[in-house]
Amino acid sequence: MPNIDSMVASEGGEEGGEEGGEKRDKQGRSSSSKVDTRYDIIIIGSGPAGYTAGIYTSRAKLRTLIISGMLPGGQLMTTSEVENYPGFPNGIFGPELMMNMRQQAERFGSTVLDDEVIAVNFNQRPFVITTPSESFEAESVLVCTGASPRKLGIPAEQQFAGRGVSYCATCDGPFFKGEDIVVVGGGDTAIEEATFLTKFGKSVKIVHRRDTLRASKILQEKAFENPKIRFLWNSVVSDIKGDKKLARVTVRDINNENEQEISAGGLFVAIGHDPNTAIFKGKLEMDDKGYIVLKNQTRTSVEGVFAAGDVHDYRYRQAVTAAGFGCMAAIDVEKWFAEKKAERKKQEIPKSEYIHERKQQL
Ligand code: NAP
Repeated sequence: MPNIDSMVASEGGEEGGEEGGEKRDKQGRSSSSKVDTRYDIIIIGSGPAGYTAGIYTSRAKLRTLIISGMLPGGQLMTTSEVENYPGFPNGIFGPELMMNMRQQAERFGSTVLDDEVIAVNFNQRPFVITTPSESFEAESVLVCTGASPRKLGIPAEQQFAGRGVSYCATCDGPFFKGEDIVVVGGGDTAIEEATFLTKFGKSVKIVHRRDTLRASKILQEKAFENPKIRFLWNSVVSDIKGDKKLARVTVRDINNENEQEISAGGLFVAIGHDPNTAIFKGKLEMDDKGYIVLKNQTRTSVEGVFAAGDVHDYRYRQAVTAAGFGCMAAIDVEKWFAEKKAERKKQEIPKSEYIHERKQQL
């Protein structure tokens, strides 16, 4: 088992470990059999943050394993066209974008394993990361598990996801030109998204379960002044209907249980996100909502463990910002290895020689 010293001695650990003979399925994805169990870095999660980090760490010659999670490619795998990711003037389909990122990470040497992490042990070094079938060791870990949009929890929601039901107005708004749009929620996101959606939709109705908004006053005022926005207070969406595409939603008044059907070409659910951090509870510092707290850029409360993307960022939540955070974390990981290497070198040089060397440097 390589420790940090042997690894930094090999410039990011090109030696050690078993041979990684990968098996691939028809989509070119690797399977868990015969995957090496020792790495310099394990990246948990495979959205834009995880894959971008993998591109950088593998180009830095760090032995990199990306464990993709149950939805390889993350949230963008459930989106249709992505129009706001730079570099694609005509847009690109979410799954295609993610497959490109994956291939780019693999091209530089990242191993991608389609499996789920069920446990982490940060109390020992190397760290131990466990999937249902195997345990892996790594000197450093980068958490890119993202956040999941909260769902309404009504049966047809899943059926119409990507066919009228969306969880991101910035991503999907322009696809709803001239439509009647319904937004659910009363927080900053819902109000900001509703205002944004008035640029495209014929009408925007905000369905909120109370009679006051949680959103900041300035956003509220803008929305109240907007002639395209109407509020349905004390109400919830109780059903979603359509044929191939969403056409109508049923709204229930929670005070009197009355239901009405309203026309809706688009339904934007903006009722918050939950960070995917359950396996890190009690192991990494988190805020009261479960987002990972970062210190010193992308470092977490455990030395050698880093985090990037929506798992710590509840504000921007864009593919491009997640990719940017992934890049930043990978650079920090690389620097961390360099620091460890320098520390080790300092420990190896006898004190007298070190003082002599320092004097010469000064
Ligand atoms: P949020 O503040 O948690 O608001 C979620 C909204 O959804 C609340 O109005 C809540 O209703 C409602 N809701 C929750 N569960 C529901 C359910 N099952 N059914 C129906 N409605 C439900 O989430 P957010 O708006 O996404 O904001 C998250 C964070 O990002 C906040 O700190 C926010 O300030 C920040 N943010 C800031 C900006 C900005 O500054 N421009 C923009 C976006 C987000 P109740 O009010 O009744 O609880």
